[in-house]
Amino acid sequence: MIGLYVHIPFCAQKCNYCDFCSYPPLTQRQSEYCDALACEAMLYKDHGLHADTVYFGGGTPSLLNSSSIAKAMAAIHECFKVSADAEITIEANPCTVTAQKAADYRALGFNRVSLGAQSFIDSELSALGRLHSTADTQRSFDILRNAGFSNISLDLMYAIPTQDFSSLSTSVTKVLNLEPEHISCYGLKIEHGTPFAKMLERGAISEKTDDEYADMYEQICSSLTLAGYDQYELSNFSRPGFESKHNLKYWQGRQYIGLGASAASFYDGCRYTRTSDFDAYIASFANDERYELSIDELMSEFMFLHLRLTGLGASKADFRARFGKDIEDVFSKPLAKHLAAGTLVDKGDRYVLSKRAYYVSNSVLCDFV
Ligand code: SF4
Repeated sequence: MIGLYVHIPFCAQKCNYCDFCSYPPLTQRQSEYCDALACEAMLYKDHGLHADTVYFGGGTPSLLNSSSIAKAMAAIHECFKVSADAEITIEANPCTVTAQKAADYRALGFNRVSLGAQSFIDSELSALGRLHSTADTQRSFDILRNAGFSNISLDLMYAIPTQDFSSLSTSVTKVLNLEPEHISCYGLKIEHGTPFAKMLERGAISEKTDDEYADMYEQICSSLTLAGYDQYELSNFSRPGFESKHNLKYWQGRQYIGLGASAASFYDGCRYTRTSDFDAYIASFANDERYELSIDELMSEFMFLHLRLTGLGASKADFRARFGKDIEDVFSKPLAKHLAAGTLVDKGDRYVLSKRAYYVSNSVLCDFV
């Protein structure tokens, strides 16, 4: 079984923190793009691939009109066998959700929506350059529920320049009031070349200190776990049974095919990345960067990704079955260092991060690379 990712690279406006590949949503371009997506899917038609997750991400997939989404979905069903019980997700921006679109998504087979709430403080949303308001998030969430979506994920951001612990607490409370099945939490990092980076340079905003960053993360983790959410991955929380099946494929090193400009695939031990140049993608979607991962890289990736899964961790038996070696033989040094430091725990059948390592996870995970 594979996961299918479909990249929709259109955004109504560039957010101040974003360094993703995205383009203005011109109608003509949308149609050309969906035609190219359908052609790209045809490349896999004779491979007999069976998908149990489909994920439309972006960009802003919910900006597209439903007929374009329908065209892409029809191509997927023509070229891949999609399980009857597949998890099929679409990302949505709260200001683009309408009752008609929500009904169309249900009719097209989507059974999960990931809604980019980010914050429930309007001044923070506007500082981020988001086009939606907290009222839009509430309204779109209600529309999705009324349309029958019983699996909704909300994105929440922390370490926003104008955010403090009190405003973060307000956002967390409002997220909990909506009772989503899944919550993803992302700490803002100011990336080179973004409007935020320029504002930082001229002193118009300041970045959170490492301590503030860790404290905000801790505030979110404790509030959400106290409310009964399971922190199944360092940045992801869910009600039991509502873990993101698609994203689990990334963390568990399973195969996935990405369709669309800048989309990545991991298939047959190789990573492929489509061009992020929109015109080049339309002209020749087969323009690929192909990279074959060495065994050493695959083993590092196994540890780096599996350790993000707070409960499942890195299974000793799975590692041995996959690489014919024991974790201890390959990673004796970082294991010894982090077991001694108490940042890793040996659970007998697997290694997991200790709770206090969640706040310094990058420094632990990097030692396995
Ligand atoms: S909506 Fe998402 S992809 Fe689009 S500009 Fe904002 S952060 Fe970037």
